[in-house]
Amino acid sequence: DKKELPIVILGSGLAGYGVAKEFRKLNTETPLLIITNDDGRSYSKPMLSAGFTKEKTAAALAMATAGDMATQLKASIRTQAEVTSIDPDAHTISLGEDTIEYCKLVIATGAKPHKAPMEGDGCDLVFSVNDLVDYDRFRQAAIGKKKVVIVGAGLIGCEFANDLRNGGYEVDVIAPSQTVLPSMLPEQPAQALRQGLEEAGVRFHLGALANRVIKNEDGVKVCLSNGEEIEADLVLSAIGLTPRVELAGKAGLAYRKGILVDRTLQTSEQDIYALGDCAEVDGLVLLYVLPLMASARALAKTLNDDITEVQYGAMPVVVKTPACPTVIATPTNQDGEWVVEGEGQDLSCKFLDADGKLKGFVLTGAKVVDKLALSKELPPMLG
Ligand code: FAD
Repeated sequence: DKKELPIVILGSGLAGYGVAKEFRKLNTETPLLIITNDDGRSYSKPMLSAGFTKEKTAAALAMATAGDMATQLKASIRTQAEVTSIDPDAHTISLGEDTIEYCKLVIATGAKPHKAPMEGDGCDLVFSVNDLVDYDRFRQAAIGKKKVVIVGAGLIGCEFANDLRNGGYEVDVIAPSQTVLPSMLPEQPAQALRQGLEEAGVRFHLGALANRVIKNEDGVKVCLSNGEEIEADLVLSAIGLTPRVELAGKAGLAYRKGILVDRTLQTSEQDIYALGDCAEVDGLVLLYVLPLMASARALAKTLNDDITEVQYGAMPVVVKTPACPTVIATPTNQDGEWVVEGEGQDLSCKFLDADGKLKGFVLTGAKVVDKLALSKELPPMLG
């Protein structure tokens, strides 16, 4: 009887644990098995780019161990366990030699950082921080050090720049774009954010690639495509994330940028679902917490046999750069134009369509207080 088989969740990030929590609110009986290739500690990933400001070690950011979570969720949790394949027809997954049967499978395997294409013998001093273990490693390496080069001026690069300045480090940011957050910000708010970070002491090297990292006596020398050379103790790479689709792809599940799921979070295969950073929900790949929480609530109902479509409201992103607070609600299409009001670092930028309807906004500095009011005017991301 398939009903006796567990619902198996792959991944113990905010998506995996989130759907387990929501499901347990509805159903305390169906067995749950959570499998993760990390240590299963529960933590809030957004805190990773605010850890120096808040003076938190990795251990302090961990809110619960896998054992605590197993009790809390009335679930079995297998840690340090790499799922290597999925067989949708047999309703099984493999962990190397081990085979496990599921009644329903939830893929919540997240996204992985792009590796910066750099050469040189200093590449082992290039870090990326996308989970608690990465964060621990980076924090340990940063003890007693003074100077960090960040590669990438996107959301996460800028957050780390601000955070490391708050932690007392010298910070140089290198990126090929001419502005910060180039895919998310029009020019004026990008300028405001850059200026705020510069006033906090961050040095930007834009329009250049970091090509090589060479070890020297105490640290590294980073060589830029424009001929510049920057000495540093450590390098932090933050050039973007890409959904983990390999496991799903190998099993024949449809994917594009992320694993394709419909509004009920079902993949192209029966009884297999996906949510969080690995999923492309009705065409949207959104690597943020709010969409995965909405997905977790809807999917919990579907797993409990009450098939439910996820809805996304307006979901503005708060950039954790206290040097210039910034909120971004990216327009879902480009039909319209930006109207900018305010001055200096206090900007209110509205993206209006031909009928004058609000389709997106960016607020910086003192204007971030308008977030709630403007959010109410926005159309839902998935209505
Ligand atoms: P993850 O947390 O990556 O979890 C994936 C899980 O799957 C892990 O447990 C992993 O070990 C496991 N796994 C992967 N492959 C396998 C396998 N083959 N077998 C077994 N297990 C596997 N979003 C916001 O909304 N606001 C913010 O302020 C914000 N700040 C951020 C700051 C940083 C530094 C970063 C990196 C991200 C930030 N985000 C923010 C994004 C947000 O944190 C993510 O969208 C969210 O945490 C993704 O959760 P997830 O569970 O989908 O993935």
